[in-house]
Amino acid sequence: MRRTLLLLAASLVAAPLAAQSNAELMANDHYTRSHDYDLIHQRIVVSNFNWDSTSFDGLVTTTLVALRPGLDSLILDEGALLENTTVADRAGHALRTARHGDTLVVFPAAPAKFGDTLVFSVTYRGKVKNGSGLTYITTDGMKHRPRQIWSQGEDHDNHYWFPTYDFPNDKMTWEVVATVDQGDMAVSNGRLVSDVTRGGKRTLTWSQDRPSATYLVSLVVAPLAKIHDSWEGIPVDYYTYHEDSAKAWPLFHETPDLIGVYSQLTGVRYPWAKYAQSTVADFFGGMENVSATTLVDWLPDQAAYLDRPWYQYVLIPHELAHQWFGDYVTTNNWANMWLNEGFAEFMPGQYWGLRKGAHAEQDYYVDEYRQYLRIDARRPMPKGSNNIYPKGALVLEMLKHYLGDQRFWASIHTYLTTHALSGATSDDLRQAVLAATGENLDWFWSEWVYQAGYPTLDVTAAYDSTARTLSLTIKQTQTDSLKPDSTGLKFTVPQVFTMPLTIRVGTPAGDVTRRIWLDAREQTVTVPGLAGAPTMVIVDDGNAVLKALTFDEPTAWLATQLTHDSDLWDRAWVIQQLNHRPADAAAGAALADAALHADYFLTRQMAVEALDTFPAAVAIPALQGALKDTSAAVRTAALTSLGSVGGDQVAALARTALTSDPSYGVRAAALRTLARATPGDAHAVLLAGLHTPSYQDQIQSAALRAIYQVQDTTLLAAVDSLVADQQLPLHLLAALGARGSVHALDLLDAHLNDPRSTIRQWTLQAYQFTLAGSDKALAISRLKGAVDGIRYVDTKKAAGDLLAELQK
Ligand SMILES: [Zn+2]
Repeated sequence: MRRTLLLLAASLVAAPLAAQSNAELMANDHYTRSHDYDLIHQRIVVSNFNWDSTSFDGLVTTTLVALRPGLDSLILDEGALLENTTVADRAGHALRTARHGDTLVVFPAAPAKFGDTLVFSVTYRGKVKNGSGLTYITTDGMKHRPRQIWSQGEDHDNHYWFPTYDFPNDKMTWEVVATVDQGDMAVSNGRLVSDVTRGGKRTLTWSQDRPSATYLVSLVVAPLAKIHDSWEGIPVDYYTYHEDSAKAWPLFHETPDLIGVYSQLTGVRYPWAKYAQSTVADFFGGMENVSATTLVDWLPDQAAYLDRPWYQYVLIPHELAHQWFGDYVTTNNWANMWLNEGFAEFMPGQYWGLRKGAHAEQDYYVDEYRQYLRIDARRPMPKGSNNIYPKGALVLEMLKHYLGDQRFWASIHTYLTTHALSGATSDDLRQAVLAATGENLDWFWSEWVYQAGYPTLDVTAAYDSTARTLSLTIKQTQTDSLKPDSTGLKFTVPQVFTMPLTIRVGTPAGDVTRRIWLDAREQTVTVPGLAGAPTMVIVDDGNAVLKALTFDEPTAWLATQLTHDSDLWDRAWVIQQLNHRPADAAAGAALADAALHADYFLTRQMAVEALDTFPAAVAIPALQGALKDTSAAVRTAALTSLGSVGGDQVAALARTALTSDPSYGVRAAALRTLARATPGDAHAVLLAGLHTPSYQDQIQSAALRAIYQVQDTTLLAAVDSLVADQQLPLHLLAALGARGSVHALDLLDAHLNDPRSTIRQWTLQAYQFTLAGSDKALAISRLKGAVDGIRYVDTKKAAGDLLAELQK
């Protein structure tokens, strides 16, 4: 799964026993659910979907094997809203059942023996709380939104639409037989067995004939066009709305190459009968349903590729990686979810590195590092919890660095083949490394997998010119200030992290390197026999260790490193140091040089961003040059930094970029900078921006935010006209209302009677989050005044509920 906003859901399912260490809890099956049968196969037949009542007809035939002698009751998960009409055995004899909440108990006619196979069918009228298990979507007067249904099983939601064992530690094969309207497609897992249209209805039968986990059972029903591709004879299909079909190929065409690269790296050939990617509305990002990934319907247009869309760069390769990590080998429980998500987040960087070189690989993990620090600052946790995506990716990249490519991939191959079509916990991965390389990484798992945090290295340097010796003192200053979570579980931060790292010292006679082990709270490293005073000192050359680094170095060392060090994380760190020295001409010169001449765009972009603290005389020439960069990311950064500098010259540069640059990102940045540089004169620019379409509304959103900045309430009618398929205009109306514009609030209120229910919901959200967020009393008084005039029953009720909540 990959969310556009990072996943923050707690993943621990039970309170731990106090006596056990976190390592034991995570490494073993403490959080794995017990049950007394082995689920073998389910045939899931669904039809008669009704969008008004979010219902359908279901018939599920389950085959399972008893794992207990005298097994007289079978406990399945089944949503309470599913109304069973009959439950019968293979011969058609009705079976006694019981329902308790979301549980179904089936009593076999006679107790089963250990190893007996049982088959029974459940016939039911299915109904869902929309969004639980199945999401029903109607067009609702919106653009780009065909009527559709999609399922979402992870973590425990598939039992809301069919009875099953809803936990990841039991794999089964299955069939999905879906009858839909003639104009609709139904995409599910595995091989397409048949596709028959009769009497205005279309029945598709899909067969997932290799076992996988039940949370990966998937169904998408929508009017979709199919774009066919293949990899080594395996169908690779892209399903999009008909209106998007021309955008499918540019977005998805790398999929076969990705499949080939992942197969090659892992040594495990793509394991499923086909690979489908289907795009749907209102999806949170992507979900790796086995052989049938579901993705959000944000297909980039041609110009959007200038800005390296997340969809192509992260989302597609992330979900594909899950076909090995998550679907082929599955975490036994959600406490070990990093085995799914850490790998899925790790693999795209491997793909980009293999296809585009070392800098592309480093670039990917620099971004993961930034995400990691952002999350860790809020809640530092080990990988069993909410930081599993970036920390998982970074720890795996560090492990690859430590083991080297061959030993790393051999270990991964062992892990995937040992647990093929089955489950695993964190310790299984450690054992795979041990089996493949002979090396016991108990210490690595203890520090990096089972505990929280990362080393914060505080380094000081002293050079003895007589002895020509450099002494480095390295302190680990991380502290353990973590508090127990709501379950009483407390993770520890190691006092000492252990890792090998390399020190590189630049000298007049060339670089000298020294490899050391980081293994103490404080340690001193000496590098003797230098040819002369150091010209730079790199601590952790090649960025082999996940860390934070404090090292107060002379600007000259930093400047030398910036031109000599090829590692992008190291460069990013140097640039950050230089950014804090705006009064230092040498620092400005080093950044200006990197902004214009660095050999990779990310370094140029970061140098450009870092110039925002420098005087105009230093910054403007470099930023002006950066506006001609071939990379849209660099030009975007240049315009943003220019916004901090300000002035007429900046306004002229921004105006040119706004009218001539092909990148949406650059034009959005130009608009922001222009509004900032000439706030009194921005009206026409903002009005034009409101009417400029762009991928994911980047330019319109920039205009809306700028309108808030300059408080231009003469544009309210234009803002209001955008309330059709965007939420942000409603939030802007609420924000301007909070700042005193009654007209903005009147416009907002009118949308409580919008004929489109989606818009009415968004309007209440604008009330709740934006208006009440800045002026609760105003939100209450406005809502009180509006609620009686609401004509739609659902919205009136929701408004009343919100009012009550705000008044609490
Ligand atoms: Zn994922």
